[in-house]
Amino acid sequence: MAASRSLPPAGVEGGTVSSAIEAGLLPLTAEVRPEGLAVGGILLTELAQRFGTPLFVYDEEHLRRRCREAVAAFGRGHVAYASKAFLCTAMARLAHEEGLLLDVASGGELRVALHAGVPADRIVLHGNNKDEAELRTALLAGVRHVVVDSFDEMERIERLHAEEHLPAARVQLRVAPGVAAGAHEAIRTGGHDSKFGFGISDGAAAAAVGRALGSPAMILEGVHAHVGSQVLDAVELARGAAAVARFAVEVRAHRLTVGGGLGVAYEAGQVAPSFADWAARMRDAVRGSGWSGEVTVEPGRSIAARPGITLYRVGTVKRIEGVRTYVGVDGGMSDNLRPALYGSRYEAFLPRCPRAPRPLRARVVGKHCESGDVIIDDAALPADLRVSDVLATPVTGAYGYAMASNYNKLPRPAVVFVADGRARVVVRRETDEDLLRLDVSEAADAAVAPSLGMMRSGTGDPVRAQTAGAA
Ligand SMILES: *Cc1c(COP(=O)(O)O)cnc(C)c1O
Repeated sequence: MAASRSLPPAGVEGGTVSSAIEAGLLPLTAEVRPEGLAVGGILLTELAQRFGTPLFVYDEEHLRRRCREAVAAFGRGHVAYASKAFLCTAMARLAHEEGLLLDVASGGELRVALHAGVPADRIVLHGNNKDEAELRTALLAGVRHVVVDSFDEMERIERLHAEEHLPAARVQLRVAPGVAAGAHEAIRTGGHDSKFGFGISDGAAAAAVGRALGSPAMILEGVHAHVGSQVLDAVELARGAAAVARFAVEVRAHRLTVGGGLGVAYEAGQVAPSFADWAARMRDAVRGSGWSGEVTVEPGRSIAARPGITLYRVGTVKRIEGVRTYVGVDGGMSDNLRPALYGSRYEAFLPRCPRAPRPLRARVVGKHCESGDVIIDDAALPADLRVSDVLATPVTGAYGYAMASNYNKLPRPAVVFVADGRARVVVRRETDEDLLRLDVSEAADAAVAPSLGMMRSGTGDPVRAQTAGAA
């Protein structure tokens, strides 16, 4: 898809004509047809029509391919899918089918993984503040190991062992190696000043090893770290791995887990290392620290991001002369929080014309009652974009649906997996009923009824007129 050099059509803002969306940002099976872009053998416009918008579409073949590439690079049993990036029953099952372990970070994620039929011994439990119930469920289920994050958590594990006679926990210790990496402060986790893990530099990690070794409630298996996320330079990740490996060698750990964090390209021009590159760098780094065993990784984003794409419907186009154009779509920060949270950047295109140049500069915004509800601050879009177009943002498969909310009482979108010309809904769209599901209606009735009764004593009250028919 080469850059077009033709002049922008009249009335289009910005002086330069941008090229069409890069193939490297699209799911693997994306294919340009005369009618538009198809993924998994189905036109995106058709998916939007059939399932409504906003819609998360995942290229199942691409998801599976990413899982296989990771396993090929690091070895079977040495890749855990970080499920927080995107989790539902179908995704847990897919990752398990492809030979990945599952990394869960809460009782809720654990519940979904078990519900999906992932055996407990293929699941590892993370989290910086696991409560007793989460630990109890994990230990009773028999998870592969628990990544212990603090002395307080050790106390909880010891109590469960001593008082409830739960089996001893196989544990890895989360350490803070003093090396942080990542695209944004909020996702840099490996530094010494972090809520995560036992610090190496202040001796907390060494003390934790001693405590675990001396406790009948814990079987110390290894050392774990995760230094950050959306890291595009494997050298940065390797630096973290080298520091953790040095510690693992020092304390004679049996296993070493070096976390996730491998970045993905969200915009044209960005390049992400392959799983093979990442594996090679990590191996070199840990060998350099004297670690001769295997390393386990926990990719999340690098598995799920690019296979996923979000489809929206354009509802408004507002041109402010001399300022900018706003393109309003039917989702927003409730289905993609990353731009508001981290200033993350995305691209957009129109599935009906994926090869069209994109000379129109516009701010793509959602429908929430916030000016910060921006999906793309300065998007390049085709000049003939119009209301009712389907607009797609690629590379939204990770930390999109996972962070979705009901802000402004928007129902969360549906998620479909597409493959070989077939689409299956793996998470249904929420309905109006879902939005009321948690509201305790008895209490509302009790509170509202008396006040309505009072209003009824008046005459010509609009509330009375409205409620009369409903009674
Ligand atoms: C978030 C997280 C991951 C995955 O990070 P990605 O950047 O999505 O690969 C892996 N391990 C732990 C402990 C995490 O918290």
